[in-house]
Amino acid sequence: MGHDEAEPQGSLHRPNQDWYCTDDGEEWPCPIHKRRMWTYYQDDHLRLEGIMNRFRDRAMVSGMSHEIATARFVGWVRNPPVRQVKRSI
Ligand SMILES: [Zn+2]
Repeated sequence: MGHDEAEPQGSLHRPNQDWYCTDDGEEWPCPIHKRRMWTYYQDDHLRLEGIMNRFRDRAMVSGMSHEIATARFVGWVRNPPVRQVKRSI
């Protein structure tokens, strides 16, 4: 859909109370948010992991299981979203 490329600067990509992105409706953290966070904290992934651990804890308070919440909120930090590699032919 090319949605990623036309990313509006003003979009916040915050989670709603059911942990879906308020901008694109994806499960939060959505791919755009992950990429932003990953880029922002690229030199300090432990800090990013700490931040995502707090979201995980909040999700668990709202009823998500530990296993699912950990995979969804924290798992990706060590297995990051990599921008599509452009292959030069
Ligand atoms: Zn989003």
